[in-house]
Amino acid sequence: MSKARSKVREKELQEFIQNTKGQSYTDRTIGWFKKNLNEIVTSGELAQLPGKNDKPISHSMRRVFELRDEKGFDIINWQSKNKSEKTLKVDEWILLNENPDPSKIRSRGVNKKIRNEVFTRDNFTCQQCGRTPDDEDPFREGQKIKLHVGHIFAHKQKDEGKNLNDKKLEAKDFLTQCHICNEGGKNENLKIITPIDRVLKYDEKTQKNIYLQLKKKFS
Ligand SMILES: [Zn+2]
Repeated sequence: MSKARSKVREKELQEFIQNTKGQSYTDRTIGWFKKNLNEIVTSGELAQLPGKNDKPISHSMRRVFELRDEKGFDIINWQSKNKSEKTLKVDEWILLNENPDPSKIRSRGVNKKIRNEVFTRDNFTCQQCGRTPDDEDPFREGQKIKLHVGHIFAHKQKDEGKNLNDKKLEAKDFLTQCHICNEGGKNENLKIITPIDRVLKYDEKTQKNIYLQLKKKFS
């Protein structure tokens, strides 16, 4: 994470945090963007913004993507088509318009309807490692798994030079992923959880019940 760019900037950020006490992380983030409209905001600054209880939050960058994809705010980063005169580096962001554009929501993001469809179809289970929101985050003690919808064809289409924004997205374009698999990278050695693993974790009474049910079914 890059640090706030200067002491003045750092002071401004601390003042902003004081003045927005009690606000949610998302509200503070969009507030900080609006305060710096058309100016560069860094990932480091965004990571310093606390949530409602004044504690830092995890996955702060995901919230930025949500503001863009689910609320329609025109937030660009170094990967965006160049819509600003400024050249952006990794970890730099700009909000180009104070007001969100709802028409951007459906074409770029995953709306609630698709989300629900995908989660229901996949039985609220990560399709890569089998974890569910009932499971512990193996990398963070005391934290549970969070589910996301991952785009199946995003990278493929990018390679083929197609513009993803022109396509109407449907549930079949997505799969359920836990936040670890969704972030990629550190999930390489993640143990896959199978339905059998789950059954073996149940108490004996439940296991016996399942056994009897299956026995009945297959005998
Ligand atoms: Zn997973």
